Amino acid sequence: MEFLPQFQLAPYTTWKIGGAADWAVQPTTVEEVQGACLWAKEKNLPITVISGGSNILVSDDGIVGLVILMNKLSGIANIQWKNNTLTCDCLAGTPKSELLKIFVKQRLSPAIFLAGLPGDVGGGVVMNAGIGHDIHPKEFCEITSWLEYVAWDEPNCPIVRVDGKEMKWSYRHTDGWGPGVIVRSGIHWQEEPQVDLLQRLKESNNRRIATQPLNMPSCGSVFKNPPGNKSGRLIEECGLKGFQIGGAQVSTLHGNFIVNTGAAKAADVMAVVQHVQKTVKEQKGILLEYEFKWFGRALK
Ligand SMILES: Cc1cc2nc3c(=O)[nH]c(=O)nc-3n(C[C@H](O)[C@H](O)[C@H](O)COP(=O)(O)OP(=O)(O)OC[C@H]3O[C@@H](n4cnc5c(N)ncnc54)[C@H](O)[C@@H]3O)c2cc1C
Repeated sequence: MEFLPQFQLAPYTTWKIGGAADWAVQPTTVEEVQGACLWAKEKNLPITVISGGSNILVSDDGIVGLVILMNKLSGIANIQWKNNTLTCDCLAGTPKSELLKIFVKQRLSPAIFLAGLPGDVGGGVVMNAGIGHDIHPKEFCEITSWLEYVAWDEPNCPIVRVDGKEMKWSYRHTDGWGPGVIVRSGIHWQEEPQVDLLQRLKESNNRRIATQPLNMPSCGSVFKNPPGNKSGRLIEECGLKGFQIGGAQVSTLHGNFIVNTGAAKAADVMAVVQHVQKTVKEQKGILLEYEFKWFGRALK
């Protein structure tokens, strides 16, 4: 396993923005994740975890310490039906699209919310990723049986297993595990195959294509939806669609997406984010909360 200095992170994010990690590593086994955590601990370096990079904004000045890139810890094992339940074990860096294929093949409902969700399974569990409208299931909390993480705070960085029922799931957030690196999770679904699954999948994909700027780099929704409301609608009602600073623009298609028009800096994105937040607070009285995670050195 190679520890790479001054590793450029922008290609590892869907926003295609950000500076370099002081150090980066791409483990391919669970043992290598443990080795990476021990390496950082010995050197007293902070650890940051990036998986699909589809919900993060990396500072233009990069990230201090070690970045563990999870995208090479990938694979699905033990796919089986037992007591009318489909189960499988996913390494954390497995693309969600690979898990999607299993549910599509079996014509099972989780395919609908997984379709079009970027990033990896580990990132999906951490973010409790899913879709807003009322379908069943609609989020990772409904399909995750357990997870295993490397506990970097404990001596020798052991692997700790947590049952899905012991975790605290909320809107775009998961608690009850960590701190550490999720390395594997158990996925299940217990309901009957759906005869109309492919048709519903097509409708769901078409909805995303029609409403989201999928041809431009972004992180998906920038703000969480406030209770009973939609951030995208509030932003649009404030006349902010198309608002731009530097290379960062509020999408003209979807108010809750900020797109990189080509050469956006993290500083541009943050300037747009703060302007949107301030304007919506002034006009609507609602303080929008970030959905994406900021990583790295503070902006000057
Ligand atoms: C076009 C587009 C559309 C999107 N649509 C949706 C949507 O409909 N619904 C939705 O919920 N999200 C959506 N997103 C956001 C994003 O795809 C999800 O939040 C996704 O689950 C993040 O997964 P990731 O692997 O990219 O995680 P990353 O962005 O790499 O990481 C996200 C967070 O999880 C942590 N993390 C990741 N992996 C691990 C691990 N193995 N161990 C410990 N911590 C870890 C990171 O440190 C970070 O804090 C969209 C994004 C884009 C670009």
